[in-house]
Amino acid sequence: MPNIADNLQRIHDQIDRVCRRCNRNPADVELVAVSKKKPATDIEQAFAAGQRIFGESYVQELAEKLDLVTQPVSWHFIGGLQSNKVKYLRGRTELIHSVDRLSLATEIDRQWGKIDARADILLQFNLGREESKSGADESGALDLVRQVAALNHLKIRGLMTLPPYAADPEEVRPYFRRLRELSTTIATSNIPGVEMKHLSMGMSHDFEIAIEEGATLIRIGTAIFGER
Ligand SMILES: *Cc1c(COP(=O)(O)O)cnc(C)c1O
Repeated sequence: MPNIADNLQRIHDQIDRVCRRCNRNPADVELVAVSKKKPATDIEQAFAAGQRIFGESYVQELAEKLDLVTQPVSWHFIGGLQSNKVKYLRGRTELIHSVDRLSLATEIDRQWGKIDARADILLQFNLGREESKSGADESGALDLVRQVAALNHLKIRGLMTLPPYAADPEEVRPYFRRLRELSTTIATSNIPGVEMKHLSMGMSHDFEIAIEEGATLIRIGTAIFGER
């Protein structure tokens, strides 16, 4: 049995250490505890240890946990999302990390419009151009940002990426750096309604490098809850 509270403490210590090393404020790095495929009781344990943001990858699973978890947690959706399932998330997520196409953004806008609210989203880019992964192609980034930014019931808060897996996390550094550069390019394009506040990047085995490259949201599952 992994000790969730100990794991969280250890990760926060690591975050503090990396931030000190690269002159960043640990308060600017938020931990998203990725609880997919883990029971609601694990989420409750993490909540009791002070964790507030939880990331889920499957709509059905998140819908179930919304009913099971009674503590006021902040839900982030981080997985591949089909437009026909957006309605189940309506008004329930604080941030959707995985918006990678205009059709999906349009449906999020439509659903949040029904409750006269605004969805906070990140645009996901597939920088490794892997067939198996979702994420927009970098080449059309500015067009996508302009089109999505024009939607009224949605706000772009930043970018997300899920780089190719590499046993040596140093090998993914270039992808993290590219996401940061892309974010700067977008920010300096002065597109109304766009805020490049967040870079969602880094997982259990590479989050320290992601923090060095500017991550503001790190998504960690295994190192908190154990193997899935
Ligand atoms: C599962 C998942 C994570 C967490 O991965 P770990 O290696 O378990 O930390 C992070 N981001 C996304 C998009 C995921 O699907």
